[in-house]
Amino acid sequence: MSDRADPLRSFRDRFLLPDGVIYLDGNSLGPLPRATPDRIATVIRREWGQSLVGAWNDHGWIDLARRVGDKIGRLIGADQGGTIVADSTSINIFKCLTAALTLRPDRTVILTETGNFPTDIYIAEGIARASLRVVDDPVAALDADVAVLMLTQVNYRTGAMHDIASITAAAHRAGTLVLWDLSHSAGAVPLTIGADEVDFAVGCGYKYLNGGPGAPAFLSVAASHWPDLRFPLTGWLGHADPFAFDPSFRPAAGVAGGVVGTPPILSLAALEVGVDLMLEAPIDLVREKSVALTERFLTAMEAREFRSITPADPTRRGSQVSFRHPDGYAIVLALIARGVIGDFRAPDVMRFGFAPLYVRYQDVDDAVAILDDVMRAEVWRDPRYQQRRAVT
Ligand SMILES: *Cc1c(COP(=O)(O)O)cnc(C)c1O
Repeated sequence: MSDRADPLRSFRDRFLLPDGVIYLDGNSLGPLPRATPDRIATVIRREWGQSLVGAWNDHGWIDLARRVGDKIGRLIGADQGGTIVADSTSINIFKCLTAALTLRPDRTVILTETGNFPTDIYIAEGIARASLRVVDDPVAALDADVAVLMLTQVNYRTGAMHDIASITAAAHRAGTLVLWDLSHSAGAVPLTIGADEVDFAVGCGYKYLNGGPGAPAFLSVAASHWPDLRFPLTGWLGHADPFAFDPSFRPAAGVAGGVVGTPPILSLAALEVGVDLMLEAPIDLVREKSVALTERFLTAMEAREFRSITPADPTRRGSQVSFRHPDGYAIVLALIARGVIGDFRAPDVMRFGFAPLYVRYQDVDDAVAILDDVMRAEVWRDPRYQQRRAVT
């Protein structure tokens, strides 16, 4: 495949990427969409600056969390009206796990897999009324005590991807609800969580959705649960009628009860630009190119000294590939100094994300050539690249 024949090639120009950079870290922080600065400037100067508090009505701020949620819902194939944007992924995990436990009052176990993203595990550990089980093979560990199975579809470290439909069906056969974390999936792989009968889903706005640093997260709940849904954080904007200022809480119907407090309008506006851009790109083409990019990189790396920890079968991996190397941290820093931006996950994993809207096939070949230079001259041995920075 060549960039000239790439049906997605025009999307690259919709991002503001610095010259000379090959950005292979969009799975950690998506780059800046070209339209975002103007959109934010408009929200600040015109909407906030001129309309002041009236903007909540006049510019639709009060519906923004719902509106962007509906768009993300389309991207992940959720039940219509079942997705909102609110808070961070960590907080949404807490809200969904607790809501799931409430729907299964006779069960107390949260089940997850070894190697799940730390915040998912930490949040589950913090829920006092549940006990957490962390196992290598969670499907085999399903039993009548498990209220909710919490999994991340694409593993942040290895890039390995679970099959949502079959695992969800297995959980349901055991009477267990599922919470899928789609942080490394939304905007990267085709999703049909409504048809797959996923009970709860959460995910990040700042990775493949390109919503900007700290963008709010999404949360989605299957329509079948809306009648009995109770979220644990009962803030005024999750009330059925917030502006009635009732003396006590009455939950809004469905997923709207998952909103807690006032939404971050500037961040939501930025996220909407990223999501709109993603919705323009046919997700099947995104996936096709993602597989082609990761395949090309894997093949080149395997021919060198790098051993992949990412599944070789493209149907079993997401949009990133990882390699273990004892000097991985220094190599990643040396690559970054030469414009190839990947990242490192302790203790020894070099990780590269391939976001098909702006990564070109030529970028893959160039990244490999730059890596060859770094390895041949042992550039990574430079003491500059040995020092750990706060964010890896
Ligand atoms: C990135 C990521 C998160 C991040 O959670 P925040 O609350 O946004 O910091 C959570 N879970 C997974 C699986 C992730 O990849």
